[in-house]
Amino acid sequence: MGIDDMDTEEGGCTTYVMYSYIKHLVHSGLEDYIVGLPRLTRLNPYVPFKTRGNASLSVVLRVDTEDEAEDYVELMQAMVDQMVKRVGKTSPGIAYVVLNDLSAVPSRLVWFYEKSVRDVVTMDLARRVAEKVNARLIGGRGVIGALASIGYLPRDATYEFIAYRGEGFERPAIEPQDVITWDSVTRPFTFLNVDGDRVLIEPHGPDPVLFGVRGDSPYHVIAMGNYLASKYGAIGWIVYLTNQGTDEHRTYMGKYVPYRNVNVVGMIINVRFDEHGHAYIELDNGMKAIAYRHLGISKEIANCVGCLVNIWGGLKPNDEGVIYIEGIRVLHDREIEIKNPRCPRCGGPMESLGKSGILRCKRCGFKDKIPRVISARNRWLIIEPRRSEYRHLMKPVERIGLEGLALYMPKPSLWIY
Ligand SMILES: [Zn+2]
Repeated sequence: MGIDDMDTEEGGCTTYVMYSYIKHLVHSGLEDYIVGLPRLTRLNPYVPFKTRGNASLSVVLRVDTEDEAEDYVELMQAMVDQMVKRVGKTSPGIAYVVLNDLSAVPSRLVWFYEKSVRDVVTMDLARRVAEKVNARLIGGRGVIGALASIGYLPRDATYEFIAYRGEGFERPAIEPQDVITWDSVTRPFTFLNVDGDRVLIEPHGPDPVLFGVRGDSPYHVIAMGNYLASKYGAIGWIVYLTNQGTDEHRTYMGKYVPYRNVNVVGMIINVRFDEHGHAYIELDNGMKAIAYRHLGISKEIANCVGCLVNIWGGLKPNDEGVIYIEGIRVLHDREIEIKNPRCPRCGGPMESLGKSGILRCKRCGFKDKIPRVISARNRWLIIEPRRSEYRHLMKPVERIGLEGLALYMPKPSLWIY
């Protein structure tokens, strides 16, 4: 069963609805019927109409009959009616499907999830897919994300420990030192906790979230999260399996399609800065890209005219195919470095004696006409954004090499409190 679009300007939050629902199941002695961890799925960040954070959620429940499944759905409906204020653009939705075999999630449903995370999907498409796979949709626009979330078949995943605060309870500022200490002992199994001494785990909106700790191991996010939850007065917490930090929204498509994340390869032929310090990049194939100053990567780019690069980022439709850069990888660096060789007699450093081409050893005084050493600068680097500029789905550099690890982690016995 999936849910979506329950956020309100006044501070409702879809993750909190799912938390409350599962808490209720646990209190009713139904914990053993919850299969795996509930899932938090972020969808395409470049779609024009979306909820705050664009998060949808889903949970897998073991049932013996369709009636039993309907009981679970009715309970969710009651919860949504009670918790979600239908104000403004908030349009909550529930989607569910009953399957005989969890390993046989319909491929059309998986396709719908993949399309929702990388492209634009409509209500009409959601209805057609639901009909084909025998899923039921209940409610408003939220059914789109709800349906997408039940099609999530993770190939790479991460965890998030989310702690909640009581109603009317002011969010206390988490001390940077607490986060820095926990970051250093749980790294690399938690990520994006701090940027220098700036705390990144605390949101700033009106939602009931106190903080969220993301990582590749449920045990590490729980160790860190549980400490902070008790220190800062959380009313409860939950661990979600998520698609955050997995780059799942990347399409690897080399052409311009609006509202999508694209992937292009080209040589940087020009970099221009505007008065705000944003970098405008031109590639030899005529494509253009922007790196905003706050990404913190502009200087690296200025230093890379002539580099063959792979650029990825999102396309908004109204600006003629300009890519908003999320990341750059240097595939080939044109720059070369010319250095003096070491002294052939004693290995000491050599200095140049003017234009004659003669080098002299600074240590032993040996002098000769020896060729300089020419080497490629060869930076095969990933130019990554500042840590505070990472968006939900973007894969942090420290996760490289940990992909898929989350799927081998057994479910912790205490995952909701
Ligand atoms: Zn020498």
